[in-house]
Amino acid sequence: MKIHFLGTAASEGFPAIFCRCRHCAMARELSGKNIRTRSSVIIDDTLKIDFPPDTLHHVLRDRIDLGLVKDLFVTHTHSDHLRAEDLEMRLPVYAHGLDHPLTIYGHDGVVRKCREAFGRPGDEHIIVRRIVPFETINTGTSLVTALPANHDPDETCLLFYIEKEGKSVFYGHDTGLLPEETWAWLSTRELDLAILDCTNGNLPFTGSHLNIEAVLGIRNRLREDGTLRDGARTVVTHFSHNIGLQHEDLTAIFDPEEIIVAYDGMVLHV
Ligand SMILES: [Zn+2]
Ligand SMILES: [Zn+2]
Ligand SMILES: [Zn+2]
Repeated sequence: MKIHFLGTAASEGFPAIFCRCRHCAMARELSGKNIRTRSSVIIDDTLKIDFPPDTLHHVLRDRIDLGLVKDLFVTHTHSDHLRAEDLEMRLPVYAHGLDHPLTIYGHDGVVRKCREAFGRPGDEHIIVRRIVPFETINTGTSLVTALPANHDPDETCLLFYIEKEGKSVFYGHDTGLLPEETWAWLSTRELDLAILDCTNGNLPFTGSHLNIEAVLGIRNRLREDGTLRDGARTVVTHFSHNIGLQHEDLTAIFDPEEIIVAYDGMVLHV
């Protein structure tokens, strides 16, 4: 699997969209890997996770052919993960030359947000499919299982376990400490790549996102449980500007732990 990280910031972006703090000023000055947009990945050019408001920027920056995407899995409805209004741009008049529908998978709130944004355009264009925790979707090329996150008490935020050609990836944000039912399910599987929420960096732990200490705890438990295969890698992403850590600061912390710090445009193969 080719995992292409399109964005690696929390909801405000890093540097944050309106922010004049010294961390954001430094990120603008340093540029490069310190410029982070709202989070998403695309797998093998055809399976996408989340549809943030920076998607047009991702398409332009990394020269992505979004018309190749067949399956879009949405973790939750927070504005940094689902800009449903832009999905209307896949319909006729706005998009030409498409040869297959896009199927969007998400929980009730995701379905409702999509309906409000673009209605029911017809299954030949966009299919919106409601999924529930522990449901496994066969996309034809991958098996994707929705797992409960611990993120927003007002909605059933989902994480995803993606299997393809004998390899497997855990898409683990947005979330705080993983629910025990998610741990129980993961303990029956193996992983080649774990992508984890590191929104809070070295700030104190908050319930709805992870910090460095919590990431290390999860990675170590995945190792101890035997869930991480030999050679499996862990990636951290979804960073808030409030952490005040630039990319080099993060790699200085995570390199000794053998954890990869994601950056916008990073491509990993598993
Ligand atoms: Zn988020
Ligand atoms: Zn800032
Ligand atoms: Zn969120």
